[in-house]
Amino acid sequence: MNKFCVFCGKAPDGKTKEHVIPKWLIQLTGDINREAFFGFIKDPELSEFKKRKYSFGNFTFPACNICNNKYASLEEVVKIILQNILDGNDVLSSDLSIFLDWLSANLRMSCNS
Ligand SMILES: [Zn+2]
Repeated sequence: MNKFCVFCGKAPDGKTKEHVIPKWLIQLTGDINREAFFGFIKDPELSEFKKRKYSFGNFTFPACNICNNKYASLEEVVKIILQNILDGNDVLSSDLSIFLDWLSANLRMSCNS
């Protein structure tokens, strides 16, 4: 199976992996090693579909170095916005827009994988 960058869809230029759900968000919401079902995968021996089960910490996809670094900058901004929301601080509407755009991009990323 060909690998593709989860952000731009091209063949990744390095060996970086991106957590679909950011590691800091997984840690913020519980144990990083907890497992969950992430869709289904076809079992080649049985020709049946079985549940894909991963720990949140291992749920990663290939990404280009450039894309991964660009996205990491956005995540740093979002992390601060989310912490302000959780702390009950005032949040600018422009910050909420950034947060929702980032959330939407993450949902698209996980649906396209
Ligand atoms: Zn890329």
